[in-house]
Amino acid sequence: MLLDAAGLGTAAGCGEVGRGSEVPVHDVPVDVERGNHVPADAVLLRDCHRPVACCGVVQVRYRYRIYPGPGQQQALARVFGCARAVYNDCLVLRDGCHAVGEKISDTEVQRRVITLAKLTPERAWLAGVASVALVQACQDARRAYRNWFDSLRGRRKGPKIRHPKPRRKHGRQSIRLTRNGFVLHGDRLYVAKVGDIRVAWSRVLPSVPSSVTVIKEADGRYYASFVVEREAAPLPACDREIGVDLGLASLAVTSAGEMIPNPRFLRTAQRRLRKAQRVLSRRQKGSANRAKARHRVAVLHRTVRETRLDHAHKTALRLVRDNQAVYAEDLAVSGLMRTKLARSVADAGWSLLLRCVEEKAAQYGRTFARIGRFEPTSQVCSACGVKDGPKPLSIRIWACAACGTVHDRDVNAARNILAAGRADKENGCEAGARPHHVAAGAEAGTHRSAA
Ligand SMILES: [Zn+2]
Repeated sequence: MLLDAAGLGTAAGCGEVGRGSEVPVHDVPVDVERGNHVPADAVLLRDCHRPVACCGVVQVRYRYRIYPGPGQQQALARVFGCARAVYNDCLVLRDGCHAVGEKISDTEVQRRVITLAKLTPERAWLAGVASVALVQACQDARRAYRNWFDSLRGRRKGPKIRHPKPRRKHGRQSIRLTRNGFVLHGDRLYVAKVGDIRVAWSRVLPSVPSSVTVIKEADGRYYASFVVEREAAPLPACDREIGVDLGLASLAVTSAGEMIPNPRFLRTAQRRLRKAQRVLSRRQKGSANRAKARHRVAVLHRTVRETRLDHAHKTALRLVRDNQAVYAEDLAVSGLMRTKLARSVADAGWSLLLRCVEEKAAQYGRTFARIGRFEPTSQVCSACGVKDGPKPLSIRIWACAACGTVHDRDVNAARNILAAGRADKENGCEAGARPHHVAAGAEAGTHRSAA
């Protein structure tokens, strides 16, 4: 799976942990909250749930901060604008065709939205920018539309995808460039029709990049996110396996009894954010002070995003390095996001953490598996396997009626997750595919041949 960078402004800073040791840190996972901005590469590879580990090469993104000069910033703004217009035109065109039941080929969309549009007076400015970026915007729109369509027809796993939203002028902007749209000139990044941009090379690129996404974040910083291939570097095998129960009180509790506290970055920043947002709402639309206030909000959000990402990387690396296999529950995050807990759930960043674990497991030759979300992990005694019925959330510690073992609720859940993960592995079936709970170890012997 290809993972996109999520706010790695301090790539150098938070990546430093791994320097010096034999374990490099930081490959960067997708930021889920970006909606249409997910680059097409990431989406293309998303269907493959067992990504990279098989071939020994891991495809990752490396993100660097770039410093375009004033002229280059203007040139980039033009490309962002053109790519956005092409993307939105694609959606409008496809919607129109869809409404009248007309089938339109991808090449025809591209021809009308780019080639023919350039000849019209109202889109003549498209000719002023590199066409690579426009073609990629077209591809992004195609992919977004296809995802929505597949989701409608039930051909796509996972949660329902909504109709792609048009890209907006404010907030994060990005363009994607393939090989023919950029070159590395010495230590500068040449972007077609923009020029040589200065890059802060916070670490060495592991291979020649196959594509680059140039990003302008809402806070005004520019980044280049390269898609590169990196050799998987399996760590020496160890015999520890671990189950992880994700929660809100603690971010994670492991079957070994370790509690990883929930740092609640957003909640910490909440007061400052609220104040900044209040200021923003009072500023007059279109004024310079409003732009300043918007920048302030964006900076606060960046801080939250980056600290959360850094924490997720460090936690994930520790879990993967110390254990041969990590099992976690497949969470219904989107369901929880509709409840009162939504903000806390988002702030905890469970999906981010699991993505980091998955990615690092692939990199270091370890196993990561999700177990089905219908496992009654908190109802079953991890010692004797007796199902004790549901318990209210307020009960943190309970004693098993059958064997008398006293359990911490979360540690017990983590142990059940570990047992379920092991059973899945023994059965050789896809993690999470089993509809019913299998008492710990009970089925392990019967299907050993399949393992
Ligand atoms: Zn028991």
